Amino acid sequence: MKIQQISAYQVDLPLLEGSYKWSGGKSVDIFDSTIVQVDTDNGVTGFGEVCPLGPFYLPAYAKGCRAGIAELAPHLIGESPIQLERLNRKMDAALKGHPYVKSGIDMACWDILGKVTGQPVCFLLGGRYEDDFVLYRAISQELPEAMAARVAAYREEGYRRFQLKVGGNPDTDIERIRAVSEKLRPGDKLVADANTGWLMHEAVRVVRAVQQVDVYIEQPCLAYSECLAIRNRTSHPFVLDESIDGIEALLRAKADLAADIVNIKISKFGGLTKARQARDLCVSMGLAMTIEDSWGGDITTAAIAHLAHSTPPEFLFSSTDFNSYVTVSTAEGAPHRDQGRMAASVAPGLGIRPRMDVLGKPVVQVGHSRKVRGAALV
Ligand code: MG
Repeated sequence: MKIQQISAYQVDLPLLEGSYKWSGGKSVDIFDSTIVQVDTDNGVTGFGEVCPLGPFYLPAYAKGCRAGIAELAPHLIGESPIQLERLNRKMDAALKGHPYVKSGIDMACWDILGKVTGQPVCFLLGGRYEDDFVLYRAISQELPEAMAARVAAYREEGYRRFQLKVGGNPDTDIERIRAVSEKLRPGDKLVADANTGWLMHEAVRVVRAVQQVDVYIEQPCLAYSECLAIRNRTSHPFVLDESIDGIEALLRAKADLAADIVNIKISKFGGLTKARQARDLCVSMGLAMTIEDSWGGDITTAAIAHLAHSTPPEFLFSSTDFNSYVTVSTAEGAPHRDQGRMAASVAPGLGIRPRMDVLGKPVVQVGHSRKVRGAALV
């Protein structure tokens, strides 16, 4: 079984709330997503998705993803899509770095592996635990009262975990955390995610001011060393996200006891193969996780669900249902939340069927089919 053709489609994903805002005045109105199709010589096709959180969150951007796929794909034609470690080594040899470029291809190959073995991806990633798993809701940065109202409304929809976008003016952020905490009920969990937005003196002021609030602090500062310093000056449970970009970072965080929870995003690690490796390492090291991606629609949400549902529940702090944040559906069969929880499909592969009318024509196509030869970036 060989990869015959790799295609990429561009899809706009407008936000249900109109926009998504976080630290430093960063915001996105319409997400630019790339859906990857991998065709094989035996007729089985797999799909993946990569959707950066704009060009200013991680070192990743939408057009870069598509340009990277055009660069990488010629090296993968003729390779086996179901020998995933081997395929990942091939991708790393052909293109140094750029993990997000590889993520959609790797995801599509897991979809193929599931289809040819007749198994849902969550089984292949280790097993499906319990009936469903827990989600968080990200609360876009607004004035404190507006964020508190959002939390109350999403709580009515069944969510019990909330991630506030802070990392703005520290005085306003203190008000944000306090206003939202008043809306919580026993058992709810609150995370204040600064997304690298505070300088150290600002972070110290915020964590000290909310000392009596039951809140987790996520990625307060840009540098790992700065986050570690804040972690050592607060008693709040502590989450690292942007700093955790690979196995080396995970090992260092464990050695320094720099976090109580780490955030594993599929495209940040370079696909399901490497995110699973990181997930399994965290389980071995006794480190809890939020399992998600940078953003995405139905296909990303399906992939997240398979990785989250195959994670031992005591290690899964939360996960995300990105397809409920956007107004466009790109695939049938994707999982949807029910009372703040979600379940991975038990159909073979990722369990999704892309809506080809929504995907339109491919903007990158590399390989050899009856109709197309060679590489093209339109
Ligand atoms: Mg985060």
